[in-house]
Amino acid sequence: MTEQPRWFREDCDEAGSAFSLQIRGRLHQEQSPYQTIEVFETTHFGNLLVIDDFIQLSARDNFFYHEMMAHPAIYSHANPRRAAIIGGGDCGTLHEVLKHPEIEQVTQIDIDERVTRVCERFFPELCASNDDPRATLLFIDGIRWMEEAPAGALDIIFVDSTDPIGPGEVLFSRDFYAACHAALGEGGIIVQQSESPLLHMDILRPMIEDMRGAGFRDTRTLCFPQPTYPCGLWSATMARKGLPFDGFREEDAAHPPFATQYYTVDTHRGALALPPFVARQLADV
Ligand code: SAM
Repeated sequence: MTEQPRWFREDCDEAGSAFSLQIRGRLHQEQSPYQTIEVFETTHFGNLLVIDDFIQLSARDNFFYHEMMAHPAIYSHANPRRAAIIGGGDCGTLHEVLKHPEIEQVTQIDIDERVTRVCERFFPELCASNDDPRATLLFIDGIRWMEEAPAGALDIIFVDSTDPIGPGEVLFSRDFYAACHAALGEGGIIVQQSESPLLHMDILRPMIEDMRGAGFRDTRTLCFPQPTYPCGLWSATMARKGLPFDGFREEDAAHPPFATQYYTVDTHRGALALPPFVARQLADV
């Protein structure tokens, strides 16, 4: 008898949909103090990181998300030197951020050290820059760290969080954005993963309202593909302190001193060119 394929399935209740990847087996499972962490070996997408039953990344397609979290915000800042990553325990965003020689220091604050330790073992390619002398990895609650950060100490804050449930919920709050606003210098940028513009307008709109309510003057949402996330269309939202956005450093972005798989000047521009169904829904926030 031939063996039946085995599948990992993520249900998306809000869309009445589910997404499956064929697997060879489960490589790891543990319950940390904060969440359940699992790693599966898939047949076609490499290793898969799952937290509390939600896909965080696959080895094959995480580059869309990590490049779009890192590069648009960095190229939108005139002189980005000091950065913080809140969440991001898989270290993929950190790896992209550190590709920029102008970044002098990055502090990554993830609440759960176990996520990083598991990723060091099963996703070594994402953790390849963890020993970079510019990087500091801390394991505490991101909102607590941000509330204690010195005023004006950061140029860019990347919020690479889990969904707004469990420990990630506070990272989608006005209080958190107010702490980020205080920690950024003039012209500073926060960028946060902002879920699917097709499925999660109920998260995206309040996020923008809260960013503005916390003092950010201007926001920009970027849309990009993320095949293993619900419905495959994802977003990140940037907000700028003090000044409105005025384009990005296109000349620098056209000649990055590193290779990319998705990010280019054109995909950056394209991500900012919101499709009408998104633009319409964000027009009044
Ligand atoms: N790209 C992923 C996604 O959207 O599915 C997120 C990846 S990353 C693994 C998310 C990280 O956020 C996790 O490692 C989790 O521990 C961390 N996290 C959740 N709540 C946090 C908090 N309050 N402070 C710091 N990190 C937090």
